[in-house]
Amino acid sequence: MTLADFLRQRGLRITIPRQHVFNILQHYERPISIATIVAEKEIIDRTSVYRTLELFAQLGIITIVPMGWKKKYELAGPFKPHHHHLECISCGQLVPINAPEVEQLIDSIAAEHHYQLSSHHIELRGTCKNCRRTANT
Ligand SMILES: [Zn+2]
Ligand SMILES: [Zn+2]
Ligand SMILES: [Zn+2]
Repeated sequence: MTLADFLRQRGLRITIPRQHVFNILQHYERPISIATIVAEKEIIDRTSVYRTLELFAQLGIITIVPMGWKKKYELAGPFKPHHHHLECISCGQLVPINAPEVEQLIDSIAAEHHYQLSSHHIELRGTCKNCRRTANT
C-alpha cells in the first residue's frame, strides 16, 4: 500500500511534507530523530515535521521509540513489521529484535486485565559485545 492510498482511505490528503517525511523514514530503516528529518529536507519547517509526525503516530503509520531521554521515530503498521530494539549505550548500535514469546506474553497480560492494547514499547539498553571487549582490554 502507498502512503497516498493509506491516507485516502482515511479521508486525508497526501501533502508534500507528509510524503517527504514518509520517504525519509522509509529511507533510513531505523528509528531517527526529528533533527535528522529536518536536516534531510530543509524546505520543510520543523513545525510541519512535528505536525506530520503527530498525525502519523495517531494513524499508526509510525511508532515512537524512546531512546534514553530522546524520542525517535520509525515506520510501523502497514509499512514495517512490528519489532523491538536492543540499543548499545556505548556505541549506539541498534539491533532489531523479533520476540514472539514476548508478544504472546504481552497479549496474555492484556487479556488477563481485559485490555485491548493500542500499543506497547519495549526497548532493551545495555553494552554490546564489542564495547565490553574494548572496555576490558
Ligand atoms: Zn526498528
Ligand atoms: Zn557498543
Ligand atoms: Zn512488541
